[in-house]
Amino acid sequence: MKVLHYPDPILKTKAPDIEVFDSDLEDLVEKMIPVMKELDGVGLAANQIGFLKNLFIVQMPKSEVLIFANPKILSFSEELVSMEEGCLSLPGIYIDIPRSKSVKIQACDLNGNKFVMEGRNLLARAFCHETEHLNGKVILDHLSFEDRLKFETQLSSRKAF
Ligand SMILES: [Zn+2]
Repeated sequence: MKVLHYPDPILKTKAPDIEVFDSDLEDLVEKMIPVMKELDGVGLAANQIGFLKNLFIVQMPKSEVLIFANPKILSFSEELVSMEEGCLSLPGIYIDIPRSKSVKIQACDLNGNKFVMEGRNLLARAFCHETEHLNGKVILDHLSFEDRLKFETQLSSRKAF
């Protein structure tokens, strides 16, 4: 399993909700976990490995892997924190992005049971980053048109080698 790199069109496509919670979904998560761990990522969305399903996983340092199917952010704190953020689909690119310090998310587990969780700091950031992936967005979408152009040029010149 490989992580798709921007500008792969799957990364720009909104992932449809999961309707059937079966063993195929467990298999998908089993595929995603080693990819995230091997690349030392904090999170991974299913479309990053080519599956258009509304699911992401996250793993905070020294914690278990958490699974979020059909995630929906319920509320964002007004307090923002800015931090340099990277993405496994945009290797080598880091962008300063202000995000809510805490975020409340609703999702389903692998059995389709709904739960609500509050994430703070890095976890809140991961919730935002991964749900954006599943909506077809990447960190470049946070940039102004001019700044984005610089990164796009950097990416396309790198691809020539
Ligand atoms: Zn990412």
